[in-house]
Amino acid sequence: MTSVAVVGSGPNGLAAAVTLARAGVRVRVYEAEATIGGGARTMELTEPGFRHDWGSAVHPMALASPFFREFGLAERVRFAVPEASYAQAMHGRSAIAWRSLDRTAAELGTDGRAWRRLFEPLVRHREKLVRTALSPMIPPRHPLLAARLGLRVLEHGTGFGRRRFTDAAAPALLAGVAAHASGPMPSLGSAATGLVLAALAHGEGWVIPIGGSQAIVDALAADLVANGGSIETGARVRSVGELGDADAVVLDVALSALPGLVSDMLPDSAAGALRRYANAGTRPGNGLCKVDFALSDPVPWSDERLRSAGTVHLGDSAREVWHAERRVTQGTFPERAYVLLSQPSLFDSSRAPAGRHTVWAYTHVPHGSAMDATEQITARIEEFAPGFRSAVLASTVTTAVELERGDANLVGGDIGSGLLTLRTMLARPVLAPRPWRTPVPGVYLGSSSAVPGPGVHGMAGHQAAQTLLRDLTRR
Ligand SMILES: Cc1cc2nc3c(=O)[nH]c(=O)nc-3n(C[C@H](O)[C@H](O)[C@H](O)COP(=O)(O)OP(=O)(O)OC[C@H]3O[C@@H](n4cnc5c(N)ncnc54)[C@H](O)[C@@H]3O)c2cc1C
Repeated sequence: MTSVAVVGSGPNGLAAAVTLARAGVRVRVYEAEATIGGGARTMELTEPGFRHDWGSAVHPMALASPFFREFGLAERVRFAVPEASYAQAMHGRSAIAWRSLDRTAAELGTDGRAWRRLFEPLVRHREKLVRTALSPMIPPRHPLLAARLGLRVLEHGTGFGRRRFTDAAAPALLAGVAAHASGPMPSLGSAATGLVLAALAHGEGWVIPIGGSQAIVDALAADLVANGGSIETGARVRSVGELGDADAVVLDVALSALPGLVSDMLPDSAAGALRRYANAGTRPGNGLCKVDFALSDPVPWSDERLRSAGTVHLGDSAREVWHAERRVTQGTFPERAYVLLSQPSLFDSSRAPAGRHTVWAYTHVPHGSAMDATEQITARIEEFAPGFRSAVLASTVTTAVELERGDANLVGGDIGSGLLTLRTMLARPVLAPRPWRTPVPGVYLGSSSAVPGPGVHGMAGHQAAQTLLRDLTRR
């Protein structure tokens, strides 16, 4: 029986392990931390009974990812589907991306038609859109749709897209979702991210797992064990050579960790190729500082409609969001920060004691920053929800430095595995039909450093495992 070691138990590591175990391979997962899940863990971070997502909170890809569909995630985990996928908190009337494209367009008034024209084809073909976004660029999956998306990315990535709209709400709604990519704005990377995420907002919705993101990784781990696999926690792997009799290895680690892990088993002939693979043009991405709040009451939004949204972007206008992201990328902290907020307890009562609430919020900070942004985030929320401060029972900050301490893949607190550029959009880490195959024989990269990049979708691990299985069959 073939035996494979998987290093790292994030969603990608577990997706790789499940794919292999279901194919009859003996799999052992090694996880450095005390608990499994990497960027998808849930824990009591503030007070007893308040359960917070340490990393991912909202899951646009959970119902759309081809791997999760094949795995049957929707049958194994219960999801809440907020009526409003996300919103842009604005002074006066906020802008809301309802699941319903019709309702969103109707509320955007004069810009409703332009919003519908932008998104209707992407929403209609979103299954192909997701497959395109989650696959290597060569060979192109759906060339016509990719071209259509590419034109929109060009338009919005250069700032011209704002001319489609006459009012402030629609550009702000788009800037807020594009800023998930973190980096200079406008840019092609942020536009691509924003368009795909917004299309999913009007499709499957931005779902929230009941019980937190931990429910997703726990479902993966249960399936792995049921198929004969095993997991060892508290097991940091320092060299692939330590992994005994494994026939092959899938690494759910940061690209920068790869050379160190394989150095003692690297054939001389592969050294140059490994250097090129591991230094494939990735630039350090911005970090983030996250604050978890335990609340006595829900967030008292001035615009009460924001209570229907699972995710709220705080940043008022598109210009303000662009400015904030540019400042962070230049290495400073903006006066008016962009804040990404999730309010899961409004949709999942298991997150807090009866009548109480949790809020998860973060802002981007320069790479590797030790800055505690609790006050800046609190002030920003208070601006759109006067009285928020008095609802706070407790809060816990996780700085960019602490994020890396809790998950070695989050280098400098960067959750994007490097700055999203045109290059990394096309090639992660290299432009190849199977970029998960490293130059070291038997070693595969299956983390968010490889295609398709960050997010809880399991597709990097799944595709790395499929490549490994294909290579085994050939051998
Ligand atoms: C604060 C935050 C908010 C986020 N919000 C969202 C969101 O709302 N929606 C979304 O889709 N995504 C979100 N993300 C991103 C998402 O969590 C990641 O993209 C995803 O978890 C990547 O999965 P992965 O398996 O590649 O890596 P990770 O989840 O980072 O897992 C890697 C695992 O490998 C382990 N490891 C690393 N090196 C070693 C070693 N040498 N030996 C043993 N184990 C090792 C780590 O301890 C970790 O458990 C967020 C991330 C963070 C941190």
